[in-house]
Amino acid sequence: MKAVFLGPPGAGKGTVAAKAKDYYKVPHISTGDLFRYNIKNETELGKQVKEILASGGLVPDNITIEMVRRRIAEPDCKNGFILDGFPRTIPQAEALAEMTELDHVLNLAISTEEVVERLSGRRMCPSTGRIYHIKFNPPKVDGVDDETGEALIQRDDDKEEAIKHRLDVYNAQTEPLIDYYRKKGLIREVKTDNSKKPEEVFELVVKALA
Ligand code: ADP
Repeated sequence: MKAVFLGPPGAGKGTVAAKAKDYYKVPHISTGDLFRYNIKNETELGKQVKEILASGGLVPDNITIEMVRRRIAEPDCKNGFILDGFPRTIPQAEALAEMTELDHVLNLAISTEEVVERLSGRRMCPSTGRIYHIKFNPPKVDGVDDETGEALIQRDDDKEEAIKHRLDVYNAQTEPLIDYYRKKGLIREVKTDNSKKPEEVFELVVKALA
């Protein structure tokens, strides 16, 4: 199973991919998580990309492509992987095509209004990365993590200005990938919205990839 999960920021790619990784027994590779891990650990790469992530812009292709090339060459990717957040540009997709052959490209579609509502209400536990939503998936006690009791934070790029910028970037740079992959016969469509539970979306994904 070599799959790419496409969709606008906030479509729920990460949530679906986390379930899919157990189901298909392949690693879930999120470029956003890899960058955030490097930022948190103050690595050289982390220092290079910190400001870019905070603004909601894209990390340069050469940096991102090299990071993914190394990651998918690791032994746990032998039987496949789920790529979440990569490729995000046509040059990234072309580089990926040189590295490996994909089985599926999931397009997780959602309306812009729903995305804005989702992202602006998203909160995260800073140490575990556990995700909440103030309306759709609130913590038991307002503002704190259910298990660790830590104060929840809002990702810098979930603030309103950055959300707008991320959506513009998505429309300009990433949406063209849907056509790119459709022409290759790889696109599997799943429509999602704020009334669907993660389990329901996951069922649709399994059907679409069957
Ligand atoms: P979301 O899907 O919620 O927008 P991610 O966690 O996938 O967020 O990515 C967060 C940020 O990491 C992006 O806004 C961008 O700055 C950077 N990033 C992630 N993947 C890529 C990529 N493939 N190319 C360039 N930048 C990326």
